[in-house]
Amino acid sequence: MMYDCLVIGGGPAGLTAAIYLARFHLRVLVIDRGQGRAMSIPMTHNQAGYPDGIAGRDLVMMMRRQATRYGAEFRIGNVTSLTAGPSGFSALTGGRLIHAQSVLLATGVVNHRPALAESLHEEALSRGLLRYCPVCDGYEVTDTVVGVIGTGENGFTEATFLRSYTQHVTLISPEENHLLSDEQLSRLVAYKVRHVIGPISTLEIEADRIVAEVSGRKLPFSSIYAAMGSMAQSQLAKTLDASLTDAGCIQVDSHQRTTVAGLYAAGDVVPGLDQIASAMGQAAIAATTIRNDMSASRTLLR
Ligand SMILES: Cc1cc2nc3c(=O)[nH]c(=O)nc-3n(C[C@H](O)[C@H](O)[C@H](O)COP(=O)(O)OP(=O)(O)OC[C@H]3O[C@@H](n4cnc5c(N)ncnc54)[C@H](O)[C@@H]3O)c2cc1C
Repeated sequence: MMYDCLVIGGGPAGLTAAIYLARFHLRVLVIDRGQGRAMSIPMTHNQAGYPDGIAGRDLVMMMRRQATRYGAEFRIGNVTSLTAGPSGFSALTGGRLIHAQSVLLATGVVNHRPALAESLHEEALSRGLLRYCPVCDGYEVTDTVVGVIGTGENGFTEATFLRSYTQHVTLISPEENHLLSDEQLSRLVAYKVRHVIGPISTLEIEADRIVAEVSGRKLPFSSIYAAMGSMAQSQLAKTLDASLTDAGCIQVDSHQRTTVAGLYAAGDVVPGLDQIASAMGQAAIAATTIRNDMSASRTLLR
C-alpha cells in the first residue's frame, strides 16, 4: 500500500494536516508515539473557540476523531527511520515498513525538565505548580509569586516576560552560574527580578505551593516555570539531510516545504512560535501544499 502522505506525529500539527489531507480525498496515515506537548496541557485558555478552556488531551482526541471520520488512518507507534527513494519514502515503525509519496514531519519538541520524579512532575504540572510556557498561561499567574528555573537567554527572557504579569518573579539558575551578561543582569535589577544562584537541591509540593530548596533556604512559589530549553524532534529530517537551524529545528519555506523534495514539516519542530494555533496554521498550509505539489505530477481528478 502506498499512502499519499505519511504524517509522523499526531499532535495539533499532524492531526490538522490529516484532517485537511483526508478531506482532499488523499490516502493519509498518521503515526504517533504519544506523550506530545499538547497531550500534557492540563487546560488551555488561549485556544480560540473554547471560552471555558479545554484540556490538551480532549482537544487532541477530538482532532483524532475528526481526522479518522474523513478516512485518515491513525496508528500508535514510533517511526524509527525514514528513507527516500525514487518512488517516495519508506518509514520503519515496529518492524514494519510504511511507504508514502510524501511525508509531513509534525514531531514537535521535548522540553528539558527539572529533576523531579515522574509522579511529582505529573502532579505539579496538572495543578499548575509547574509550567512550561508563559505565552500560554502567564495570565493564570497574574499577581502571584513565581519562580523561573533557567539560565542564559532562556531564563532571562522568561523571567522578564513574566514581569508583565506579576512583580514577584525570582530567577533561579539550575547550575552555579546564571550565564547572564552585565546588560542582562542590570535589566533584571531594573525590572526587580530577584536572581538566586542554584542549584536547586529539592523541589517539593507543600499544600498549594511548590517549594525549591536552594543552599538550605526554602523558596515557596505559586508556580515555577521551567525555562530550560527544549530539543526539537528533528532526527528523521537530519538522516535525510534536510537543513536544520542551529537550534535543531527543521528549515521550511513559506509553504512548509523542507529542503528535501516531498518532505514537509509543521508545528513546534519548525522555527516559530510554539503554540497550538501556529501549529494548526502551518499544518493547514503544509497539507494544501502537499495536495498541490502532488497534483503537479499526478492527476487528482475524481
Ligand atoms: C505544559 C504545556 C502547556 C502548554 N499550553 C499551551 C496553551 O495553553 N496554548 C498553546 O497554544 N500552546 C500550549 N503549549 C504548547 C503546545 O503544546 C505546542 O505548541 C503544540 O502541542 C505543538 O503541536 P505539535 O503537533 O507541533 O507537537 P506535539 O503536540 O508535541 O505533538 C508531536 C507528536 O509527535 C510525536 N512524535 C515525535 N516523534 C515521533 C516519531 N518518531 N514517531 C511517531 N511519533 C512521533 C510525539 O510523540 C507527539 O505526540 C503548551 C505546552 C506545554 C508543554
